[in-house]
Amino acid sequence: MTESGFISETLDRPLDILAIAAHPDDVEQTCGGALIRMAEAGYRAGVLDLTAGDMGTRGTPDQRIRESMMAAERMMLAWRGNMRWPDARLENTLTARMTLAGELRRLRPRTVILPYWQGRHPDHYRAAEIGYEASFLAGLRRLDEDTEPHRPFKMIYSSLYANVAPSFVVDISAQFERRMAALFCYESQYGAAEAGADLFPQQDEIRERLGSIARFYGNLIGVKYGEPFVVKEAMRIDDIVAMPVRSI
Ligand SMILES: [Zn+2]
Repeated sequence: MTESGFISETLDRPLDILAIAAHPDDVEQTCGGALIRMAEAGYRAGVLDLTAGDMGTRGTPDQRIRESMMAAERMMLAWRGNMRWPDARLENTLTARMTLAGELRRLRPRTVILPYWQGRHPDHYRAAEIGYEASFLAGLRRLDEDTEPHRPFKMIYSSLYANVAPSFVVDISAQFERRMAALFCYESQYGAAEAGADLFPQQDEIRERLGSIARFYGNLIGVKYGEPFVVKEAMRIDDIVAMPVRSI
């Protein structure tokens, strides 16, 4: 069962792009700028978080979900939901894949953003695996005769947590501040609370850290702030004369 966000019940049109993430606030740290940019361009962007962060030191799952809905508004999302699967022990089960496939048939995104398929946190690479396999299942007509099949056209992997060369970088210079504002909606995580204060750097430090990372990726394409992505298939370029990003 999905705990869905604002507007979810009135989802009347398919999403253009959906980010599937393991934890609330993953998107705000890794690919939120690209989502904001797509929303600004008129696309319907959404986020589906698989867990509510119930193993976190601070806050409660309900609080995290409430904060994620505020962040969704900041990011101009058309939809956000939360599967409330178990945090820190996400498992790629048949039930998980089938449930997610059902959500994908309902949301019908053309493009899906997944976490990079390798990483330190098992939930992240497991989310990538479940997301990929559910996207495949969602396209099978016989999966469920009552719902229309839908397979996303494009899968892109958000690689900011992974130390790998991106296939491409999205310029988020104009979206960076909005993304930071969305992240700081998670007051239970980034507020100045007492419990676990040593574990959580203050907002200035977070801003500096995320700013440095975004600067690094922006620098790769000659802009201020960027977000990195990896695709498994080749990139098609139609005009090699007009290609951006200086080589020498
Ligand atoms: Zn995470």
